[in-house]
Amino acid sequence: MKKNSCYILLALCAGVFYGCTNEEPLYKPKYLPVIDVSVLPKENRAITMFEDDEDPSKMYDKKDRWFRVNEPLQIFLKGKDSVQVSLYLPVALSNVKIYAKLPNYEKRFLIYHFSKIPAFHRSFHKIPLTEKKHDYLLETGNTVTIDQIQGFMSESIEFSVECEEPILKKLKKIKSKRLVQFDDRFHKGLTTNKFLPMNPVLAKEGITMIINYSYALSHPLYYDTFMNFDRYKREQAAAAGTAVNGALNWHGDDDDIGGVYDYLSQEQIEKAYNNYIDNRILSMAMVGGASALGGGDLVSQYEVNYVTKHWEGEMSMWSHEYSHHSGYSHSSNLTNSGEGGGQQGMLTELYKYLIYLDDLPFTNPDILKSWTKSTYLRSTYKKPVFKINANNSFLLKYKGAGKWN
Ligand SMILES: [Zn+2]
Repeated sequence: MKKNSCYILLALCAGVFYGCTNEEPLYKPKYLPVIDVSVLPKENRAITMFEDDEDPSKMYDKKDRWFRVNEPLQIFLKGKDSVQVSLYLPVALSNVKIYAKLPNYEKRFLIYHFSKIPAFHRSFHKIPLTEKKHDYLLETGNTVTIDQIQGFMSESIEFSVECEEPILKKLKKIKSKRLVQFDDRFHKGLTTNKFLPMNPVLAKEGITMIINYSYALSHPLYYDTFMNFDRYKREQAAAAGTAVNGALNWHGDDDDIGGVYDYLSQEQIEKAYNNYIDNRILSMAMVGGASALGGGDLVSQYEVNYVTKHWEGEMSMWSHEYSHHSGYSHSSNLTNSGEGGGQQGMLTELYKYLIYLDDLPFTNPDILKSWTKSTYLRSTYKKPVFKINANNSFLLKYKGAGKWN
């Protein structure tokens, strides 16, 4: 070790000072130990969220259970000296490194190294900086020694996640920032008997589906097709040997009278794309005997859609309700599927093609096996089986190409 150890000294109440030393001949850094969450002591309060038999009131606690689709491993400050780590994923992650960054020191340093974080894990961890002076491994491989810091405010420390697993690399590409939660107001009094209460078995499916769906919306094939929907419609017509059916391109919410559409400009199309992936709140719900609904933060569908249909790529209903939630009415082909198909049809074809390519984060229903959990379901289901039609428009055009690398 030489010429690469930096010291950060904290003067009480006076901020952080640091200086580098050039004379550290034989310093052997002592890094923090790797954390094995399977043997955490009681004070770390480790739990598995969304256990099948967990009281549903916990998943409906919107202050406690929410996540952004682009940040399924959530780390945030709890109090001044601890963090809460929650994994909103149906699979475990191995060898996860959490880096911290302080506002007045430009380098990230390794603050937690987990050997494995199981699916839907949550635990709490003391911030080692608040305990005593420690050595930390920098991203560069060098060492930084940081004196004790009494405590943090949320803006005074930032966390970021690194993990070599292919699944996390895939998830990092998600552009959507939707904040996902479950909301019990839809089945409690708002529209009695229309919405049904969900449970953790269904919530786990909902989380898995919305991560896949958000990935599909972020996919370059989707973006290219969305931005050139007129081309997609022409190609569909050519494949069918007909003229273009209905609208030639995306159009808005004005009434379509006599085949006159309020076509969106390219700029408005870009805006519509951004509406699909912005940071608004999405509340998942389940409908019963009546039609599914979407609008405002609500997006709903039936139990069968949560348990089996999304694994088969049947995303037409979800896409329709999600478009209502994103701000479009039935007059727009961003929501509606009429007259040659709009968003509903295109998205569903793309989604199936991505399953076919194995290019969604999760394509194997065995990771949850919800169809076997009859105690928690209103109907009986069989294991979902995925099939793609030979005339799928993306299959016809891309013939197995187009995987997002
Ligand atoms: Zn509708």
